[in-house]
Amino acid sequence: RMTGDDAVAIVTGAASGIGRGIAEVLANEGATVVVADIDEDAARETADELSGETMAVPVDVTDPDETNALAEAVVDEYGRIDILCANAGIYPSAPLNELSTDDWDDVLDVNVKSVLLSVQACLPHMKAREYGRIVLTSSITGPMVGYPGWAHYGASKAAMLGFMRTAAMEVADADITINAVLPGNIRTGGLDDLGEEYLDRMRASIPKGTLGTPEDIGHAVAYLASEEAGYVTGATLVVDGGQTLP
Ligand code: NAD
Repeated sequence: RMTGDDAVAIVTGAASGIGRGIAEVLANEGATVVVADIDEDAARETADELSGETMAVPVDVTDPDETNALAEAVVDEYGRIDILCANAGIYPSAPLNELSTDDWDDVLDVNVKSVLLSVQACLPHMKAREYGRIVLTSSITGPMVGYPGWAHYGASKAAMLGFMRTAAMEVADADITINAVLPGNIRTGGLDDLGEEYLDRMRASIPKGTLGTPEDIGHAVAYLASEEAGYVTGATLVVDGGQTLP
């Protein structure tokens, strides 16, 4: 159960993959879902396909003017923001000898700076009502395991958690929580691009024997975004089919 039947949830990067899975689960649970994505057409299509009240907002999460405009648009329309899922992220690979400072900046901007900006945009509205649920999409890569070719990505996904722990403390006096979900290998378009050989290697390394689905992540996020999870903050929830157990 979420904050009543009418929780208002912003999901960034919701036009594809894991974000879309989160959006679907929250919409099915009765939330009003704001599909926030840099891909405007895909955002609109996704919003049209979700159940219940939805809104599509084009946004580049690395731009503070755009993240502020996103929060304002949502509050203008619905009067509040109950849930923020800061999920937008990119994962281009580059081995260390090819990793440029531009590659580094792109990944850190989209994956980490975006979290600061989305949280700063939504937090005043949450503080005004002394209620909020913020869920970040981190990864097992970085905080728990390393993947050659993804040093910048691993750094970004670990950095999100450092941000989360301090931010969670700063807002803990209100009923506002900040948690993170750590997906393992989840079947999305981005992962498909890595090829069948990669996918087979991944399946072999996962005790459950299959890749996860965007909905698997959506259900974990729905728990952290629920009213009942109010005593859980600054926590990480690993959803990886047991991949990090061995
Ligand atoms: P995806 O490429 O399918 O979806 C990402 C979405 O983010 C896209 O719709 C894209 O348009 C949007 N986006 C990209 N840059 C943006 C920007 N600047 N502003 C707004 N929107 C932007 O990727 P995915 O696999 O669903 O990954 C989503 C999140 O999950 C990422 O943070 C990723 O790091 C994380 N993750 C994915 C996996 C996996 O196995 N797929 C595992 C662990 C963590």
